[in-house]
Amino acid sequence: MSKTVQAVRGMRDILPAETPIWQHLEKVISEVLLSYGYQEIRFPIVEKTELFKRSIGEVTDIVEKEMYTFDDRNGDSLTLRPEGTAACVRAAIENGMLHNQIHKLWYTGPMFRHERPQKGRYRQFNQVGVEVFGLQGPDVDAELILITRRLWEKLGILPHVRLELNSLGTIESRAVYREKLIEYLSAYETDLDEDSRNRLHSNPLRVLDSKSPQTQEIVKNAPNLLSFLDNESAEHFEQLKQFLDDSGVEYEVNPRLVRGLDYYSKTVFEWITDKLGAQGTVCAGGRFDGLVDYLGGKPTPAVGLAMGMERLIGVVEEIESIESPANVDCYLVLAGNAAQRKGLQLAESVHNALPDLKLVTHCGGGSFKSQLKKADKSGARIALIIGDDEVTNNSVNIKFLREDKPQLSYQEDELIDNLFKIFG
Ligand code: ATP
Ligand code: MG
Repeated sequence: MSKTVQAVRGMRDILPAETPIWQHLEKVISEVLLSYGYQEIRFPIVEKTELFKRSIGEVTDIVEKEMYTFDDRNGDSLTLRPEGTAACVRAAIENGMLHNQIHKLWYTGPMFRHERPQKGRYRQFNQVGVEVFGLQGPDVDAELILITRRLWEKLGILPHVRLELNSLGTIESRAVYREKLIEYLSAYETDLDEDSRNRLHSNPLRVLDSKSPQTQEIVKNAPNLLSFLDNESAEHFEQLKQFLDDSGVEYEVNPRLVRGLDYYSKTVFEWITDKLGAQGTVCAGGRFDGLVDYLGGKPTPAVGLAMGMERLIGVVEEIESIESPANVDCYLVLAGNAAQRKGLQLAESVHNALPDLKLVTHCGGGSFKSQLKKADKSGARIALIIGDDEVTNNSVNIKFLREDKPQLSYQEDELIDNLFKIFG
């Protein structure tokens, strides 16, 4: 026998036992976003490699070592999207959505990064992303945070996540800080971890969020980004904090929370949980006023966030067991050839009359006894039974599988009304 083919490392199947929790999260998230007037956008999962190189930046983990890049048959370099923001901006520019317009958008789908697979870190994973274009004030930054707080509340995980907040200032104010930071870090150059040493001159802000304990010690006494903020960014940050205070959102200002990319400005934030070990960030967001311009569009302020679905599901599963809803309400048992013919028709009329009822029609024949066993195993509340006698009499039997109630028998034309009574 030949060897079976396995899934690609770091890419998982989501099996039927898991899909109910996915559907639950997807439903809650899309409903909340809709209720705030956000519209869904969908774009391809493959883009030209250049888009990500330009937007995410050459000196980042993603572009340096995580992208799934391949040549198309005609030699173009393409990449499976490692995140959604760049593609969303590309789509917005290309479709003329950014001329004096405001757009509040969201999307969901798989992202691809060639990382070392571990808990909370996969090579294909799912994000929900939200991006707002055309608004520059801190009110919309606050709104994004309020939306996420509402989501955590609805998902029952609010007590298990905390919010960290920072401001990166403008590109100009950051340039001054950058020099000071390089000056400070250079004194410890040999003690920094390898990645940080490599980034010292190319992307020193990323050293601030290095995960190496020794680098973290060094960074503790580094110059504080917040004391280098320009007036406008400082004002923006103060107002954002005020809005959050007004709405009772708790947060912690973390001056070492950064994004290593030039086009980020002002607000950055992360929702972090202690429930998942090292991979604790469930949602990360920030303002990127420079990106649209950088990608060739008309300068447009923008702010957004991305949440990791696998990690959110991980937190939800840590704290509660979501009862998966019964997959079957009603199981149609069909004993004999005549019953089988009748059954498919009867099932259609039940589906017409009660479109939300989960009715499974037995297929594949077999004895009455074995069908009834299957009905019980399916978790259905009732079995509808048709045998030879019922075909002759135009009747249907109802057997309660979970309740101590006598079996009922109805004429076919009374069945729908009685199903309404049972499941109404
Ligand atoms: P990390 O520091 O964990 O590598 P990141 O900065 O690379 O995160 P972002 O690009 O900000 O992550 O992505 C937003 C969110 O997407 C993360 O907060 C996380 O919840 C999720 N995420 C990122 N990478 C992965 C992955 N490989 N597997 C599962 N979820 C991920
Ligand atoms: Mg990463």
